[in-house]
Amino acid sequence: MVSRVIPVDSFDLVIFGGTGDLARRKILPALFHRFVAGQMPDGARVIGAARSELTDDEYRDLVREALTEFIPEDRLPDDQLNAFIERMGYVCIDATGEDGWADLKGRMREDVVRAFYFSVSPSLFGALAERLHEHDVAGPNARIVVEKPFGHDLASARSLNATLREHFDEEQIYRIDHYLGKETVQNLMAVRFGNVLFEPLWNSQYVDHIQITVAETVGVGGRGSYYDRSGAMRDMVQNHLMQLFCLIAMEPPSRFEPDAVRDEKLKVIRALEPVQPNEIVRGQYAGDGEPSYRDDVEDPRSRTESFIALKLHLSNWRWAGTPFYLRTGKKLRARTSEIAVVFKDAPHSIFGGETARHRNVLAIRLQPNEGMTLRVTIKEPGPGGMRLVDVPLDMTFADALGPDVEDVPDAYERLVMDVIRGNQTLFMRGDEVEAAWAWTDPVIAAWEARSDVPKPYEPGSAGPEDAAVMMHREGRKWREIKA
Ligand code: NAD
Repeated sequence: MVSRVIPVDSFDLVIFGGTGDLARRKILPALFHRFVAGQMPDGARVIGAARSELTDDEYRDLVREALTEFIPEDRLPDDQLNAFIERMGYVCIDATGEDGWADLKGRMREDVVRAFYFSVSPSLFGALAERLHEHDVAGPNARIVVEKPFGHDLASARSLNATLREHFDEEQIYRIDHYLGKETVQNLMAVRFGNVLFEPLWNSQYVDHIQITVAETVGVGGRGSYYDRSGAMRDMVQNHLMQLFCLIAMEPPSRFEPDAVRDEKLKVIRALEPVQPNEIVRGQYAGDGEPSYRDDVEDPRSRTESFIALKLHLSNWRWAGTPFYLRTGKKLRARTSEIAVVFKDAPHSIFGGETARHRNVLAIRLQPNEGMTLRVTIKEPGPGGMRLVDVPLDMTFADALGPDVEDVPDAYERLVMDVIRGNQTLFMRGDEVEAAWAWTDPVIAAWEARSDVPKPYEPGSAGPEDAAVMMHREGRKWREIKA
């Protein structure tokens, strides 16, 4: 695939938490790929900052190890690796202390983009913002990148927004939702707004319903204590699924520009109706022979959901009457993320009722094998009369755009470079995040008030039976969870 590399201004990027898991697994490899692509201008540098006492050289060793671990060998040529490592530096800083800031300030260059990536626990976001300001490290045009989770509920998100905005303008704050950096998600907008074909059908007159599924095969792993305080609703629905939902449901923005897009997303969240208790199914994995969710979080009475399915209604002209079904969970049958737009039956069948069983479906796959498939109905070949069959029009990006699937950039590559370019389109604005919490909070409060206990489901299944029942009740069914 030939990809066009857009030049960016030179930059100093500081990664707070530069020794942590996210930095090692995602941020540093993303930067390396951009470096290889020629998108790291002369002089651009990356400075790790964390509590460990490391020299620049020790940090370079850590970066080398991380890249060797997380990038396949054939994509890590020695000369490129060495040249990239040269751009690394390190400063020992405790976000809650006063040491190290003068050193960091001394390393900042004038007249380049300054970006500060907060890849640390959210409890430190406020302290970092404050100290960057107090020690005059940030400078007037600095950008800060804030990881998830952004708050635990509306009150904490508001308070975090207020703290960050004491020291930075909204235009300087980049709240990451890495789902928005996925190639397919951007393609969703290209398909909707770049073609005349879909938009006229994109409404309740033609769309029966929409399903959004984010299924994982892993359990809570080492994140048990964090996850148990959060659950699938806070960890996945409030942010990732909500963002996907907004992009599917929003009105066409007037331009592909940050505030035009984010204004439309915000309107979607504000048009959400409260969810009814019988339109939510919460689940917890628990099967024979392997650790259950409660084992994983070491709480035999935990009522946190590792699975959730819910039905959303939008009260606006475009979508009134078309439900959106969202579902996400851990320890499910396959790792897959998909949005499916299921169209209505043809209004009249000239083929004796047979068309009714053939529905057009536009399936947008985020992982694995990013791409889109449109199921269309055609005549089954052969002399056997007018028999209809569904076939996929398949646009797997790797097939459509070139043989080398690795060339589809990782979400973090796109997002980090957008920060350097100063483009906030794929980042969440403060009011969006607050609106999403404002909708989420009462849903959680309602199940907490009635001490709702999640339904058990077998690891490796599609979630609790009740989720399937919720769909059957309405004459619909979930799409199969498969890789
Ligand atoms: P981690 O625990 O692996 O790393 C934390 C980093 O913060 C380390 O470099 C540590 O040295 C540093 N640190 C800790 N206390 C500090 C202090 N007082 N001052 C300065 N540095 C300090 O965590 P992680 O998994 O890398 O996660 C970082 C952030 O990214 C968190 O907000 C997390 O929620 C978010 N996140 C992580 C992932 C992931 O896959 N790891 C995914 C999405 C979001």
